[in-house]
Amino acid sequence: MKKPDCIFCKIIEGTVPSTKVFENDRVIGFKDLHPAAQIHFLFVHKNHTRDVNEMMVLEPSQIGDIFSAIRELTLKDGLQDNGFRVVTNTGQHGGQTVFHTHFHVLGGEQLRGFN
Ligand code: AMP
Ligand code: ZN
Repeated sequence: MKKPDCIFCKIIEGTVPSTKVFENDRVIGFKDLHPAAQIHFLFVHKNHTRDVNEMMVLEPSQIGDIFSAIRELTLKDGLQDNGFRVVTNTGQHGGQTVFHTHFHVLGGEQLRGFN
């Protein structure tokens, strides 16, 4: 369930501080330490997996848990009104630096396109 050397598992267990924006029995959302937009949250499942593909194989329902949490928060805090972006980086080319599956939620301003 937890990986001892994983920074996000430590945030989940509370031994590393974070600014939480969402929590239920399965998922937490917290502010990214280095925001890439006015609003930049990270949503993670409380059960450790390495990346979204591993999550999909081991426990696909976790993806629903994450998007349900994102929906709940973005409706509550009004992000839904102007829109937002969800990103999950995977592996080296994807730019993944923390190997506990996480979904970036970005918004609060007009985000640049991919081109
Ligand atoms: P990625 O590069 O997709 O793996 O995203 C990892 C994200 O985690 C980066 O945006 C970091 O700024 C963020 N991050 C790393 N350590 C922490 C931390 N202790 N608290 C909050 N965000 C963190
Ligand atoms: Zn972890």
